[in-house]
Amino acid sequence: MGSALLALMAMALPFGATNAQRPTRTPARAAPPNIIVFLVDDLGWQDTQVPLTGTPTAFNQRYRTPNALALAAAGMTFTNFYAASPVCTPTRVTLITGASPVRTHVTNWTQRENEETSEPFPGLLPPDWNRNGVSPQPMAHAFTGPLLPAILRDAGYRTIHVGKAHWGATGTRGEDPMALGFDVNIGGSSAGQPGSYLGSKNYSSGPGEGAFRDVPGLAAYHGTDTFLTEALTREANRAIDDAVARQRPFFLHFAHYAVHTPLEADARFLQKYLDAGLPPVEARYASLIEGVDQSLGDVLANVERHGLTHNTLVIFLSDNGGLSAHTRAPPLHEHNAPLRSGKGSAYEGGIRVPLLVKWPSTVPAGAVRDAPTITDDLFPTLLEVAGVPNASAHTRGLMGRDLRRVLTSASMPADRRLADRPLLWHYPHFWGVRGPGIEPFSALRVGRHKLIYFYGRRQFELYDLSADLGERTNLVDTQRPLAQRLAAQLRKALREAGAQMPIDAATKRPVEVPVP
Ligand code: CA
Repeated sequence: MGSALLALMAMALPFGATNAQRPTRTPARAAPPNIIVFLVDDLGWQDTQVPLTGTPTAFNQRYRTPNALALAAAGMTFTNFYAASPVCTPTRVTLITGASPVRTHVTNWTQRENEETSEPFPGLLPPDWNRNGVSPQPMAHAFTGPLLPAILRDAGYRTIHVGKAHWGATGTRGEDPMALGFDVNIGGSSAGQPGSYLGSKNYSSGPGEGAFRDVPGLAAYHGTDTFLTEALTREANRAIDDAVARQRPFFLHFAHYAVHTPLEADARFLQKYLDAGLPPVEARYASLIEGVDQSLGDVLANVERHGLTHNTLVIFLSDNGGLSAHTRAPPLHEHNAPLRSGKGSAYEGGIRVPLLVKWPSTVPAGAVRDAPTITDDLFPTLLEVAGVPNASAHTRGLMGRDLRRVLTSASMPADRRLADRPLLWHYPHFWGVRGPGIEPFSALRVGRHKLIYFYGRRQFELYDLSADLGERTNLVDTQRPLAQRLAAQLRKALREAGAQMPIDAATKRPVEVPVP
């Protein structure tokens, strides 16, 4: 056998495979890993027991998430991972398109066809954004290529969606996960929240305006006391069993409705939090979190039962920061402490979320990485680990990076390009609830610094996250050259990405990022 062919075979091996695992008989590439993306809705940075600040915080100690802890111990914890957007749909669209919201023009959450979900903000109008979300066809005036589930299906995966989809508006093709490349859809629709988590209510808020939020496809559980989180878990495990029976690798996109509102109690876990003296709404929230953690444990136990743990890649994450602006018990805007604010905000509480990655054959156990990473990175990473032919053709021009080098390194890699590459957020909308940083904004993180521009009040803020994680000391005036440099970088990044700028309500002209 020629050395060139040997080299080709080596390149085709699953990433991180050892000599002992190398196939000896078949020259074809070894089995690609099963992939589980375990996406928890609205889960905040502090909403697990996994310490992300070095030492456990009060919130880390409040919630009970043994399975997330075990996942972190067996895999890699990212302490500087970000959602691509402070709200649901844009981040979810980024996950399956690989493109940042600034490029897909799906910059806000979607509801019904062509419906504007931005709330009025004094002096500003939203741009003509893509109000319908992702589409199986190329989206008008915005970047999009083939979608992750379709690519993985073409590569031989059984593609399974379970839970909240929220990729497309009601009345559009994108509302149906099966139009986006999934072989199986359990419970996914255009809805951004469930009508109810309760089987006794048929997972519905009842007839009327909110009926589109009825969770579809779970009739077998209607009238029972099965909580939505548990019903979805049982169905997810059945779908895994089915994929195994078909002898297919699987891509399970398990996107829980929890821990989004309505904050109904998962009765299996509620009492201990009430006994601990938490306000009732906080006890209910904690019960939603523990229910999701139980689900994680139940799914991974099934993977283990099938003997697939070693070559299954598990990615645990959230789509935006934790809710803190309404519904939660006071004090509001403090539920992601030490981060400032929460869902909908430009501040860290709105965008920084947990990321845990386990893949026993490949990712070192118990590793912690501080390099800034973002939802955009998962698409190129997953295409590569799945061995998608010609993956680079799908990722050309995207801002996300293939994280395999980080994931496989036993020590923190000296990859300055990753540590210092700019991360960009563009949210030219008003989410609707008042709170710190909950305004139309763009932001850029480079290294330890983060520059935010608030379009409504035409103001910059600059923070050094290494010294000021809570974003309390605005450095714009004391570090003006740095602010000017980052502002120029932000303007350039927005222009290159084809950003849709918010509109000045008086002049009807786009509001650009100025020079500070
Ligand atoms: Ca969300």
